[in-house]
Amino acid sequence: MKSSKKLAINGGSKSRVNELPDWPVRDDRELQAVEKVIQSGNWWRIGGNSVFEFESNFAEYHNTKYAVSVANGTQALQIALLSLGIGEGDEVIVPAFTWISTASAVLLCRAIPVLVDVNRETYNIDPSAVEAAITSRTRAIIPVHMAGLPVDMGALIHVAKKHKLHIVEDAAHAHGAEWRGQRVGAIAENGAGIFSFQQFKLMTAGEGGMILTNDEEVARNCFLYSNCGREAADKDYQHHVLGTNSRLSELQASVLNIQLQRLDDQILIRQRNALLLDKLLDSVVGITPQAQDDGVSRNPHYMYMFRYNSSEFSELPRRRFVDALVAEGFPAFVAYLPIHQTPMFQKGDFTPMWKRDDSRLPDYAAVRCPNSELIGNSVVWIHHRFLLGGEDDLLELVNAIEKIKENVDELL
Ligand SMILES: *Cc1c(COP(=O)(O)O)cnc(C)c1O
Repeated sequence: MKSSKKLAINGGSKSRVNELPDWPVRDDRELQAVEKVIQSGNWWRIGGNSVFEFESNFAEYHNTKYAVSVANGTQALQIALLSLGIGEGDEVIVPAFTWISTASAVLLCRAIPVLVDVNRETYNIDPSAVEAAITSRTRAIIPVHMAGLPVDMGALIHVAKKHKLHIVEDAAHAHGAEWRGQRVGAIAENGAGIFSFQQFKLMTAGEGGMILTNDEEVARNCFLYSNCGREAADKDYQHHVLGTNSRLSELQASVLNIQLQRLDDQILIRQRNALLLDKLLDSVVGITPQAQDDGVSRNPHYMYMFRYNSSEFSELPRRRFVDALVAEGFPAFVAYLPIHQTPMFQKGDFTPMWKRDDSRLPDYAAVRCPNSELIGNSVVWIHHRFLLGGEDDLLELVNAIEKIKENVDELL
């Protein structure tokens, strides 16, 4: 189908005519839940019900014993690590391709993130690269279920057990995801998992975070670290650990209780559409969607990601391609830079938290993770709200990509 139409970025008409589904999905139920809390006058978790209810609902939904809510996903990572006893000088293995917090939360615990490569097709941490990076100082692994696609937990748990390491699942993208029928979050025995409820995530209260674990002691620690070191019922200023205040508020939890009720239906729609879009994009040369392996039994699809091969688009840079796609009416973005290519890691400058010359820090500028570098510099992603629409929307996206390809001369 040849469509020699002027590109929207150059003043032509947009490829997308359908309205995009709005995000966050919301209605009177969220409003009523918030109103109830407002009227109660009890807006923080102490003495309230909403946070407790949400923690118990979220734990049950992910088949785990304990849930401790916190202010956001970044602090959830930090608090989970501290609660497992990880700190000063310990090494924690993280994928080189992820959101910055996976690595920065480790540094904020005064522990050392060791970057390893991911699989070129699934974008998930490579268990054999993990094993190769283990030293006598390694204490934990943080697998990231990238874009909602569960990591090969079987292989990873095998490695973790062999070397007596903790696993902290970064499930910030993966609410409701399943690996071989098991919900993510606390798949490994002696570990934890974290989630985020920031505006973009699959359920949201604007901000928020959660830690899941099956270990009572870890759960207790998480609460202490998130509550200035105090027990829930303490009235006598008994601070047991060096904690912070990372409490979720009743207002946030009341919204999240409703958002959780919407999740299953939304996952069904996104799964159906993502599968369809994979098929539709099969015929578009130069676009390769994120691949899924056999063990994935449920993918909630936080992002729809694909590798963009500029050589099939007359060497049009990815940035220009994304700008053109946005102009055509789609919520498109470039993928995260690999961690070691961000300015902070290139400079190795984590001051004032770390001294510049701390010899325990690796030379991050010398790290080479070819798959992460390829993915970080060639992948494009589409916001998940796009996957909540119908088949028409998917066709519009495919047509927009074809349109850009056929009229690429306009952009060169
Ligand atoms: C969003 C995100 C986080 C952090 O969550 P915040 O709530 O934004 O602090 C951690 N890890 C990954 C992979 C994320 O995408």
